[in-house]
Amino acid sequence: MSRTTDLTNPIFTDPDAARAHFEAIRWPAGPYCPYCGSFDSVGPLGGKSMGPGWYHCRACRRKFTAAVGTIYERSHIPLTKWLLATHLMCSSKKGMSAHQLGRMLGMPYKTAWFMCHRIREGMRELAPTPMGGEGRTVEADETFIGGKEKNKHSSKRDSGNIGGTGKEAVFSLVERGGRVRSRHVVSVSAQNLKPVLVEHLDRASAFMTDGEGQYRILGPMFASHETVNHSIGEYVRGRAHTNTVESYFAILKRGINGVYHHVSETHLKRYLGEFNFRYNERSMLGVEDVERTTKAVKGVVGKRMTYE
Ligand SMILES: [Zn+2]
Repeated sequence: MSRTTDLTNPIFTDPDAARAHFEAIRWPAGPYCPYCGSFDSVGPLGGKSMGPGWYHCRACRRKFTAAVGTIYERSHIPLTKWLLATHLMCSSKKGMSAHQLGRMLGMPYKTAWFMCHRIREGMRELAPTPMGGEGRTVEADETFIGGKEKNKHSSKRDSGNIGGTGKEAVFSLVERGGRVRSRHVVSVSAQNLKPVLVEHLDRASAFMTDGEGQYRILGPMFASHETVNHSIGEYVRGRAHTNTVESYFAILKRGINGVYHHVSETHLKRYLGEFNFRYNERSMLGVEDVERTTKAVKGVVGKRMTYE
């Protein structure tokens, strides 16, 4: 398998090639019934009335395609376009705006916008297990993302959000040489960060932060806690630093500020999921474009989206 996707690949233009590609990702061991789980009683549905890609289950007597039970189900958008859009979002480091995607796919902005959010849903980690562990080092830090305070109506301004007035606080954990996980938090108080750490970081980890008060309070939860004091210009002291999480924030901010321009609070967690996914499935960890796209396509199974 090549490391980068060839955009002339038939899966992006030919419906039959796209369907075969998706079926192979969805059903690596062959088709099974999404309704009753049967393998043995499933066969292709003959006849031209339904079109290609339909299967029948003799056990529960239902018909289905590979899209049943995925975010592609009931979509009027051809699978070729889903695969191309997923590939484009997975292979652009900083992300891709719905405007750009719409232009590249020849689709209206609104359609591209819906596709982007469904594809992000495919990138979302289901049931994530705690990060770190014995002998592992995990850096934690916060950043602030969002609109300029001066552009907001005075009633919407929030002066209590220290360090990021009017912006949304994002708290991230990055394991050195490993994965990232980010959460949108109301504020970065010890009280708000504690439940995130309890759920997402193994207590046997070595914990690295800057010297802010909330981290001094939370540090004793972990096997060890080292800090660097940014306020006195200290950024690295031996193995103590937060450079890894800060370089992740640089990618996140370049992406969100440069590509998406504006991220509503409602959608922030989906964007975080997208950036986390690309970082976690990155070249440095041996994941190339083709495999990253395959993982995102596989992630559409078992997910449905409802829109507010
Ligand atoms: Zn069945």
